[in-house]
Amino acid sequence: MIKKFISDRKNILCATAFLLAVTISVTIIQFRAQSELGNKTVISMTMGGQTIKNLETENTLQNSTENLKDLLTLISELEGASKDEEIKILTYTVKSGDTLESIASTYNLKISTITESNKITADATLKEGQVLEFPSIDGVLHKIRSGETIWDIAVANKVDVERIVEVNKLEAPDKLQLDQKLIIPDIDKLKLVVRNTSTSSKPATTSTKTLSRGGGGGGGASSTSFSMPARGKITSTFGMRWGRMHTGIDIAAPTGTPIYASAGGQVTFSGWNGGYGNLVIIDHGNGMQTYYAHNSKNLVKQGQSVSKGAHIANMGNTGNSTGPHLHFEIRRNGTPLNPLNFLR
Ligand SMILES: [Zn+2]
Repeated sequence: MIKKFISDRKNILCATAFLLAVTISVTIIQFRAQSELGNKTVISMTMGGQTIKNLETENTLQNSTENLKDLLTLISELEGASKDEEIKILTYTVKSGDTLESIASTYNLKISTITESNKITADATLKEGQVLEFPSIDGVLHKIRSGETIWDIAVANKVDVERIVEVNKLEAPDKLQLDQKLIIPDIDKLKLVVRNTSTSSKPATTSTKTLSRGGGGGGGASSTSFSMPARGKITSTFGMRWGRMHTGIDIAAPTGTPIYASAGGQVTFSGWNGGYGNLVIIDHGNGMQTYYAHNSKNLVKQGQSVSKGAHIANMGNTGNSTGPHLHFEIRRNGTPLNPLNFLR
């Protein structure tokens, strides 16, 4: 009797598992959970064999609900993504009678996407047979120069590394080839081009000027100004690295190196947090928070107000860490952003 009950239960479980498998294969979504480096968890998502997104969490048990939330967010993102057309680099051979306007409207792009990608002026005359290259979404094509890293490009264009990796489906973002072409999607940048054009009598000519601009557009960033939280070497940047998502930057220096509040605010957490080791979280208002992880010692208490530059902790090697360093995150409403887009 009990045996039968157990076997029935098994059947139900099997049927449920089967249904789940079918659902998953129909939508061609695969989740892989891999365990690596002890208790670090990597959740990666593939679609039609292509890695769409990887998520790394530095915590285990405490973050399991957060992981689930992240997974759900990923699913909805993926559903949205599958509806979008594939983003790619288009090659167009100019036909007789073509104008920049006609080509732009054919592909539903801004003229600046075509002119900037090909380094031609808005009043350039197109020649029949001329080959133009431009992305299938608004932005600009960027050819990798010698020694240039994805981080340089992200900082120069104020685009998240993650976004560039996603759009270009980069498998090895740390290994860019010379002359490799990347699509830089950036609405803010295009806005800036428009602004540049209106302030000068000449139309925006090449992308070099807009690429080398300093500061510039706010791009909706918080008004809080953040400073470097510690002296040291940046050993790891934000974004996809070796197929994994790194949610902050790593600054390496000897154990005990002082860590300073990147901006003023209130300490909302100071204590041990799984893979983060000794962690300090400061809330800066406007949904902005900073995380300081792997500390050898926290010097502030929860609820305490700190001013920008206050000595809040000492650098260490606690939690999931392979050497003394500070793992620093800037989050807006809980979402990690690229700290290098904020630091000044
Ligand atoms: Zn880190």
